[in-house]
Amino acid sequence: RFDQIRPKVEKHIREVKDFPKKGINFRDIMPLFGDPALVNELCVVIADHIRHTTGQIDSVAGLEARGFLFGPQVAIQLGVPFIPIRKQGKLPGSTINASYIKEYGEDRVEIQEGVIKNGDRVFLIDDLLATGGTLRAAADLVKKAGGQVAEAFVLIELSPLNGRSKLEDVNLTALISYD
Ligand code: AMP
Repeated sequence: RFDQIRPKVEKHIREVKDFPKKGINFRDIMPLFGDPALVNELCVVIADHIRHTTGQIDSVAGLEARGFLFGPQVAIQLGVPFIPIRKQGKLPGSTINASYIKEYGEDRVEIQEGVIKNGDRVFLIDDLLATGGTLRAAADLVKKAGGQVAEAFVLIELSPLNGRSKLEDVNLTALISYD
């Protein structure tokens, strides 16, 4: 089913050179949302993939911000909770966090305490895998909370950046891979 939807999704991904700064080849997924039927089909296909391949999961966790565009829809399809993983300082109440190194210094991601129970199987979702730092921190966070990453899913993988090498312990799926 991924094979059928891949070319349709690919058509809606816009390449923007030198955004947000020189040398970055930005992959803009927003045009996809101009085709709501395709967005729906994509989320149904991801949910089917989870049912048939990933297996039982307890929650879908999406990464701020573009993981929030797909995560809740996939979670609703499966009837499981959606967990927002946010940048530090955005979530009220007690939180659990994990840090990662970015180009300029350190960044942190957080979840609210109690949303992941011991042994929970969590499906991670984001729009794009670049260096892998963000998804690595998200996987660490799930483990720190006592859960396990059932699978990490991205729409797009930028293969030359080799983010995959940071996630060797994670079952990682990319719908589209760019060289
Ligand atoms: P990384 O932590 O390096 O894997 O970066 C992944 C995060 O940064 C994702 O949440 C993406 O939304 C964003 N990102 C990084 N590179 C790009 C790019 N070339 N185009 C669009 N988004 C990007």
